[in-house]
Amino acid sequence: MTNKGTLFVISAPSGCGKGTILSEVFKNYNNVFYSISATTRKPREGEKHGVNYYFMSKDEFTELINRDGFLEYAEYCNNMYGTPRKEVEEKLEQGYDVILEIETLGAKQVKEKFPDATLIFILPPSVKELRRRLCKRATEDTDVIEARLAKGVQEIKEAYHYDYIMVNDELSDAINDFTAIIHAAKLNGSKMTTKELIEEVLENA
Ligand code: 5GP
Repeated sequence: MTNKGTLFVISAPSGCGKGTILSEVFKNYNNVFYSISATTRKPREGEKHGVNYYFMSKDEFTELINRDGFLEYAEYCNNMYGTPRKEVEEKLEQGYDVILEIETLGAKQVKEKFPDATLIFILPPSVKELRRRLCKRATEDTDVIEARLAKGVQEIKEAYHYDYIMVNDELSDAINDFTAIIHAAKLNGSKMTTKELIEEVLENA
């Protein structure tokens, strides 16, 4: 059977709960690689280098750009974020599904390079609720929260370009929706992997 993985791109405004949804879904999801991004942002309390992000200086980040080390990269609220290229390409080739949790500019770049990628956008129930969640998280100062909220509103307007859009209101519903999207995307007949699958079934006469 064919062994090329599926590439998923997940975007959501900061504070939308995508981390919680992803960690729940991954408990029952084998053969998946969660890409660890590089960032120039400072670690939040409890975040670890090589687990949550590869935390690096601006110079290190620029050097990686110059070495063509990123699949995509973008600036978000005055920090740089990027997806290391090598690991993602290798894992896809090895047949793993790969998850990128990235913002909308990066998602566009990925879709251009990988038209088969499935783009999923997670919406908050409302902007009011997003503000409430960001304030409750209290990991940032008020001005950073406001900047992230403004950025979030801007990002929601980009959601039209995504293949699937879902709302994170009740967590259990959101987990079910997300799981359904993953299944549907993997069975999508226009994807290269499913074309190969059909060919293999036909060949095996
Ligand atoms: P945070 O600082 O809250 O961890 O992330 C801020 C934003 O950057 C989020 O929307 C997150 O999805 C996005 N992000 C994280 N890693 C990457 C990446 O590698 N590339 C891009 N373009 N965005 C990223």
